[in-house]
Amino acid sequence: MSLDETLRELGHLVNGTIAAGGDSFPVVSPATGQVVAQCPDASLDLLDEAVAAARAAQPGWQALGEASRREIIRSLGAAVIEHFAAIDELESLEKGVPNAAVELYMARIYANHIADTPLPVEIIEDNDDRLIQLVRKPVGVVAAISPWNAPLLITAEKVFSALAVGNTVVAKPSPFTPLGTLKMAAVWKDILPPGVLNVLAGGDELGAAMVSHPGTDMISFTGSVSAGKSIAGAAGRQMKQVVCELGGNDAAIVLGDVDVKVVAPRLYGAAFQLGGQACAAIKRVYVHRSIYQALVDELAAWAGLAKAAPAADGGTFGPLVTRPQFERVSELVSDALARGAKAASGGAPVPGDGYYFPPTILTDAGPGVRVVDEEQFGPVLPVIPFDDVEEAIAAANATDFGLCGSVWTADIALGRALADRLQAGTTWVNNHTEVAPHIPFGGIKSSGLGRAGGRPGIDAYSNLQTQIIYKNADRVSG
Ligand code: NAD
Repeated sequence: MSLDETLRELGHLVNGTIAAGGDSFPVVSPATGQVVAQCPDASLDLLDEAVAAARAAQPGWQALGEASRREIIRSLGAAVIEHFAAIDELESLEKGVPNAAVELYMARIYANHIADTPLPVEIIEDNDDRLIQLVRKPVGVVAAISPWNAPLLITAEKVFSALAVGNTVVAKPSPFTPLGTLKMAAVWKDILPPGVLNVLAGGDELGAAMVSHPGTDMISFTGSVSAGKSIAGAAGRQMKQVVCELGGNDAAIVLGDVDVKVVAPRLYGAAFQLGGQACAAIKRVYVHRSIYQALVDELAAWAGLAKAAPAADGGTFGPLVTRPQFERVSELVSDALARGAKAASGGAPVPGDGYYFPPTILTDAGPGVRVVDEEQFGPVLPVIPFDDVEEAIAAANATDFGLCGSVWTADIALGRALADRLQAGTTWVNNHTEVAPHIPFGGIKSSGLGRAGGRPGIDAYSNLQTQIIYKNADRVSG
């Protein structure tokens, strides 16, 4: 099928059918800055239909039983790999890099893990007299709202977790990257009963309408802190359950006892994966002054190997995904340079129509400079020296963010003790940026509420029910 035909067939998934027509909005390729497709824009009437379909489908989906639901989730994971090429074509177009849909392989791992993991039942007390247990019940209809950086995996993780517990879903991808997700929904349409999953494309207003809709019972949101705070506030006013996976400004603290040649590529990889557009990417490095220059040189050497350009022109480093993000990163770097920072690599956007910015290592930028204090969410890494590790711990924690943090050292006991003092939802010793379905992930402070992954990730989509059963009928009979 040609790309034009694929695009023409794309639509929202509502009650088991693909709905197109109506208004549309443009989707731009960040590789060229050109409009590459028009995406259908869901109306509020269509949202009503989708929510009604999800509500109608929920009791049947719950009644299907946990084991059957889990096997269907396994099939969803298999289907995205079977249809990888079709989804990838669209995802690569809207993200401006080849093989953008590689996150689908991770999605299948999530599906299989959830399929293999029965819902937890906690036995709190079990004796001759009574049984007390804690079980997971569905919340109802989940509104799932995703950002543009890893749209397929983030949507898949939300959908699998919600469906496993017996919820039904109305999902919305980012308006910057909706195409791959609509294709993924079309692939899943034939596997799921109608109404169990509905996917609508649209902008922030559609997201806000999903949050305030009286027919949604829970909000699962991944995105910026500002939208997260507004969503958590709106959900709270309606007593809706909410999970918010928000931004971060992750610090990595590197002690003087590491081998710079070994650590630099690991730090580089964890900072510049997806061009730095990852919530759990390293966004600040604090390094002991004894190895400061050596580490800066090594990071700059790694950055120098990358070519920020379209793949067709030999590029190995992709663009920023959105124009606002490209402008923001450009502004943060020029602000830092104007305040005395120096670029050991990169430092300016690549001329042209695409949103390319080379991997940029900044020195001489400290607290009070925006690129250090704010989440840059792009290919920029300030590297900051310290003399006493206490300074580094204090600086790492001196932020409203609390997503992840790491300590790098050959002294594992010291690393553990220091990492334990980082104010973050995930801490590492000698690693950074690791997500897996069995590992709970999420933020503290302004970085979020609730968790994805592991048992807390299932609980986020559950109503917890405490069941107390007295075992002897003589309590009620003579
Ligand atoms: P964004 O908040 O602008 O948008 C995310 C989604 O929310 C989009 O679908 C958007 O249309 C919708 N939206 C925006 N405002 C809304 C509102 N008021 N009500 C309801 N929906 C609304 O975020 P973005 O720019 O797409 O994504 C980048 C951000 O996401 C970064 O801050 C990044 O750190 C964060 N992120 C966090 C995680 C995590 O797991 N913690 C993962 C990926 C991205």
